[in-house]
Amino acid sequence: MNQNWHGTLIRHMLLLVTGCLLVGLISGYYGWSLAIGLGLYLGWTLKQLLRLHEWLRQHTPDEAPPDGYGLWGEVFDSIYHLQRRDQRVRGRLQAVIDRVQESTAALKDAVIMLDSDGNLEWWNRAAETLLGLKTPQDSGQPVTNLVRHPRFKEYFEQDNFEEALEIPSPTNDRVRIQLYLTRYGNNEHLMLVRDVTRIHQLEQMRKDFVANVSHELRTPLTVICGYLETLLDNVEEVNPRWSRALQQMQQQGSRMQTLLNDLLLLAKLEATDYPSDNHPVAVQSLLQTIKNDAQALSGERGQHITLEADPSVLLKGSEGELRSAFSNLVFNAVKYTQDKGTIRIRWWADHQGAHLSVQDSGIGIDSKHLPRLTERFYRVDSSRNSNTGGTGLGLAIVKHVLLRHRARLEISSVLGHGSTFTCHFAPTQVSRSQAIAAEE
Ligand code: ADP
Repeated sequence: MNQNWHGTLIRHMLLLVTGCLLVGLISGYYGWSLAIGLGLYLGWTLKQLLRLHEWLRQHTPDEAPPDGYGLWGEVFDSIYHLQRRDQRVRGRLQAVIDRVQESTAALKDAVIMLDSDGNLEWWNRAAETLLGLKTPQDSGQPVTNLVRHPRFKEYFEQDNFEEALEIPSPTNDRVRIQLYLTRYGNNEHLMLVRDVTRIHQLEQMRKDFVANVSHELRTPLTVICGYLETLLDNVEEVNPRWSRALQQMQQQGSRMQTLLNDLLLLAKLEATDYPSDNHPVAVQSLLQTIKNDAQALSGERGQHITLEADPSVLLKGSEGELRSAFSNLVFNAVKYTQDKGTIRIRWWADHQGAHLSVQDSGIGIDSKHLPRLTERFYRVDSSRNSNTGGTGLGLAIVKHVLLRHRARLEISSVLGHGSTFTCHFAPTQVSRSQAIAAEE
């Protein structure tokens, strides 16, 4: 109520009282006329209040308020203007929300909002095509019930969303999708899903190409190497000037064969997510044979190789793949450790899982190379490789095998003082041999 209305109200009341007193003066009933006058005023006020209540209860958004007199008219108009202003603000907000929803709906990528427990809250149209979500039935459902790929469940539960996850779409096996999860607000999740079928196809073409070329080259190379071997077996019949050339050709030939074998192995590892077999592997005896091979490889260089392995700790996975990975690490240690150096192989388990470490007192690696070491054909020093006959694929193979066995590789090294390569396996991959543990 502003100052104006305050004065008017007082004036009205004074007028009413004066009128009543005048009637009282004429009629001689002061009390009655004052009571009747004030009663009438109260009745009128109550009527206005009822009209206001009626209008507030039943009016349509744009319906004007009832005509009011005096202060009541002012009250009706103020409420009406407040309501209109509120409507306009809400309309503007709704328009903004509509625009945001329209633009996200038009996105080719799926956007899904999940609550802190991973239940679906909101999603756009692309989510219906890429993930097969149904509006509105799926609202409030746990996302892991709708995207049922085992790797998605693992990814969602592991809580580390640094890297995206690539899986086939639940609606169509031929569509490949990439999922990114981010946390926001009160531990809610925002999930973005992209169709990466084309990139996946190109990647697949690259892998197929490398695999096919390696495969096709293998046969001619075997023939060439075979003939070279025959020629070298009968070296006395060959012109002596050719014998050194033949030896070098055989050396390079067998290097190419190792390279092709490694490329084929990598292609095989990339073809599937997990190893086909998942039996408990007796790592201790596997390491024992690798150690013997390493000793043979070391030969006259006299390196001191030791093995400390817990025979009761078994590892679920593919024996063949684990053999390639572990032997790559141990043979690298032999290759990159000077004569009479030491190499220590250890296999143990604790509450964090199982661990294999290969420690050497060799030449070591500068820390700047460590992040890129597992890349294909990455070489610390290209001149080193020609001496050791390495392919540059060994650690890439190790990385892939470990990925498939839910493990990670840790490399620590000091230039000139040796290196330690440690494979950390998740506790779910470890299985204990009861018989051996009981014997101990
Ligand atoms: P390569 O077949 O050349 O050995 P890898 O992928 O196995 O290829 O290794 C990549 C590079 O990492 C090697 O060229 C070598 O320089 C370095 N490296 C690997 N293992 C060791 C080690 N134990 N000590 C020092 N350097 C190593």
